[in-house]
Amino acid sequence: MSPDDVVVRIAPSPTGSPHVGTAYIALFNLALRRKQGGRFILRIEDTDRSRSTKESEEQIYDAMEWLGIGFDESPRIGGPAGPYRQSERSETYRKFADDLVARGKAYLCFCTEKRIEELRVLQKKQELPIGYDGLCKSLSRAEIEANLEAGRPYVIRLLVDHESETVCHDFFRKRIAISNMQVDDQVLIKSDGFPTYHLANVVDDHLMGVTHVIRAEEWISSLPKHVILYGAFGWEPPVFAHMPLLRNKDKSKISKRKNPTSLVWFRDAGYLPEAMVNFLSLMGYSPPPRESCPEGNPEIFGFDEMVRDFDLSRVKTSGPIFDLEKLDNFNGVYIRKMTDEECVGRLLGFYAYLEAERGRLTAEIESELPAAAEMRTLDERRRALTRSTLEFIRKHRPSRERLVQMMGVLKERMKNFLEFADVAGFFFEDALSYDPGLLVPKKTNPADAAKVLRLAADRIESVGEFSLAKVEDGVRSLPDETGWKGRALFMAIRVAVTGSDVSPPLFESMEILGREKTVLRLRGAAGFLDGIAARSI
Ligand code: GLU
Repeated sequence: MSPDDVVVRIAPSPTGSPHVGTAYIALFNLALRRKQGGRFILRIEDTDRSRSTKESEEQIYDAMEWLGIGFDESPRIGGPAGPYRQSERSETYRKFADDLVARGKAYLCFCTEKRIEELRVLQKKQELPIGYDGLCKSLSRAEIEANLEAGRPYVIRLLVDHESETVCHDFFRKRIAISNMQVDDQVLIKSDGFPTYHLANVVDDHLMGVTHVIRAEEWISSLPKHVILYGAFGWEPPVFAHMPLLRNKDKSKISKRKNPTSLVWFRDAGYLPEAMVNFLSLMGYSPPPRESCPEGNPEIFGFDEMVRDFDLSRVKTSGPIFDLEKLDNFNGVYIRKMTDEECVGRLLGFYAYLEAERGRLTAEIESELPAAAEMRTLDERRRALTRSTLEFIRKHRPSRERLVQMMGVLKERMKNFLEFADVAGFFFEDALSYDPGLLVPKKTNPADAAKVLRLAADRIESVGEFSLAKVEDGVRSLPDETGWKGRALFMAIRVAVTGSDVSPPLFESMEILGREKTVLRLRGAAGFLDGIAARSI
């Protein structure tokens, strides 16, 4: 190890779907590790046995892999400080807790849950700080022996000197002093024999040689307990750097009730990992100014670039905004940066993946759907994306060439992947449904519109070679022949062919659809209008 080497880690708990916050924190840890050299550890903190699942652990690996976040040590890779899953380290924690008890730094507490609960109620009523009152601190050795003999369940608590204060250091916030009156005699070992987060976290960070704990701000309230624990063990604490929490535009903490927070969700909704990484890298961070930025946007940079200039002291602790619109824009930027070939490669991979994950995906999306009304449109678009991509791959099994061709046409127009799904859905539908309000231009009527669409169909049927130029030639003379304004005419045709008044370029779309499908749609729309005309007589 060189003197600059750092040992950093993320320590997610495998409960539920992996959170964007985990990726955000992981990126800052990785940036420091790559900039300075050293090791990056993935430790699975699964001490909460009732909430931890294997599935969630798997999802953490998948999500990190998707984002290109690699580790030097993990439960999968192994390493010198393993095992890296806390459920496999119980004996270690027990040993360290017993050692604290033996040295008078921690004590056994036999209070029942009922007593703890009564205490809490009383403290609340008297507006006192909530916490253990230290009753078992004064148990004599004989009393302890008798309780153990009787098989009474107990926890091990940290002995906090409530008279003094604890001075903590945070890399960003510098010195934080806190009166120990506010620090509870924290439980270290629960009555089931498992360690609490606090004990396991501190023991592991020490044993794994962690030099920098870069984690989310929500853990700052645990910092005094951790610092006291380091002191009790006689260990040097690592550098702590608490990253600002991600916030909604209204400054509230992001939560899955308000917006999607699951990395699985973002992956399945078609976000590109590099867009996500870039977006998350900007949370609380601004890279030093660069001489030139290729995209003309100083915020667009790859992770390698982030690492090159990385400086932890550039993090600002005011809450960064997790702005989904910005993420959508970033996604668009990265899509447009790709060559058509690359884009197709990605799409194929994505479709194949979606197909495979279909059952799970539906449930996942349903459960992650945000409730807030203002999200609904965006959500519908995302659902449309999933639906149309699945339909697409299933029905059409398109050739690579075909996709490349489509992509060339579409990429110009699409702002991002999501929009691609919206506008391209029509390529994959066999039957379109029509909004008569769009199909019949103002100052015309359904019967007339039906006639014009049939005329267009005839024309397209009769052009010799079905190419963009020929189709365009064939249709261009129609305004003169029908007396319709060009705008109205092309709008009716666009709606008939694509089902929508917003679509990629019309003639290119027809070319991709092919003659047969184009004609079928024009006639289909005309038939639909016949029905309306008949009813209105
Ligand atoms: N297990 C904690 C979590 O789920 C780890 C917090 C820490 O990094 O200390 O985030």
